[in-house]
Amino acid sequence: MNESLYGRLGVPVIVNAKGAATRLSGGVLHPEVTAAMAEASAACVDMIDLHAVAAAEIAAATGAENGLATSGAAASLLLAAAACMAGLDLAAMARLPDARGLKREIVAIRSQRNDYDHALRGAGARLVEVGLPDRFAGAGIRDAEPWELEAAIGPNTAAVLWVASARARPPLEEVVAVAHRHDVPVIVDAAAELPPAAKLRTFIAAGADLVAFSGGKGLGGPQASGILCGRRDLVMSAALQMLDLDLRWGDFDPPPSFIDKALLPGLPRNGVGRPCKADKGAIAGLLTALRRFLAESDEARTARWQAPLDHIREELPDLPFTPVRGGIPRLALQLADFEAADRLYRALLAHRPVIHLDHSEMEAGRLYIAPNCLAEGDAERIVEALRILWPREARR
Ligand SMILES: *Cc1c(COP(=O)(O)O)cnc(C)c1O
Repeated sequence: MNESLYGRLGVPVIVNAKGAATRLSGGVLHPEVTAAMAEASAACVDMIDLHAVAAAEIAAATGAENGLATSGAAASLLLAAAACMAGLDLAAMARLPDARGLKREIVAIRSQRNDYDHALRGAGARLVEVGLPDRFAGAGIRDAEPWELEAAIGPNTAAVLWVASARARPPLEEVVAVAHRHDVPVIVDAAAELPPAAKLRTFIAAGADLVAFSGGKGLGGPQASGILCGRRDLVMSAALQMLDLDLRWGDFDPPPSFIDKALLPGLPRNGVGRPCKADKGAIAGLLTALRRFLAESDEARTARWQAPLDHIREELPDLPFTPVRGGIPRLALQLADFEAADRLYRALLAHRPVIHLDHSEMEAGRLYIAPNCLAEGDAERIVEALRILWPREARR
């Protein structure tokens, strides 16, 4: 079905063993998720009603006070920055991304800087970097210190950013303690932290004020979907800066748990987050994926992902695979060096169908096979390609 659609369009179908990368179109959705998207697309609703239901489901799943369905984790970050800068000040919302005169600084830990923080700057925020990850020189063991965060917080600080990772220093609890001492909210970028399912709640439980998750990664939702969850007033501000509000004040009647009209002097204009709008089909797909994600245990999910990896190992017993455990299991393929890994990587790109592996550690001569975006039959396609292309001298 997909093959024939893409065939008609003249777009080659690839084997995605890299994982849910945006450039490779995210993952392959469960039929229940695509059915929800199609069903949602066949009728019209008031988007505030759909968003309010999504808010309640996201809040229940994360333990947060409020939630918002967005078009991706990057969108969630832009909205988070806008919320922290404007709060419920409608004039400030109208002015963004011109943030002059507002608290506009977001303190970011230098070692955690990445391309996604463009999203924060897109709302008008200015990043203030702290910390010196001195491990690079070999001797160092330090990264950013709580006192450095403290020193960077001032009258113009809108928020502190923490990018979730096992490597992130200082730990979130210490960042929250410093930020909250100064009444500054903490934004957590947890885009790629799921599974395990427990992480839906971890960051809120640790005191984060806003948390961004990707819907299209481990959650199994549409590629352009995401979650923002956290403090009621901040999520409310984010929602007000994203929603289409071409309404009369008297006709605006959202449930107070999502948007509390009593806290507003009037309706804001369509805001800086308008390009982050979530499609009704994407929201339906996201909520369906979220329910499926919560209904399946981490063990069952891992076993489901492990099956194609086991198949590949069994079919190719003389290849030096190493299983890697973690949120999403993978197979590591160790080659002699970078050149050997690069040759195999490029041979798989020249193969038909094109096979994309995870090449994030190619410098070390290592490639990975990720199972979570494989379609039916892809494990066999990988086996067939590696049988031909794996260098003879690199076999066991
Ligand atoms: C993937 C990712 C994002 C962006 O997520 P989208 O849902 O694609 O917008 C942001 N931050 C980090 C750390 C990511 O890994």
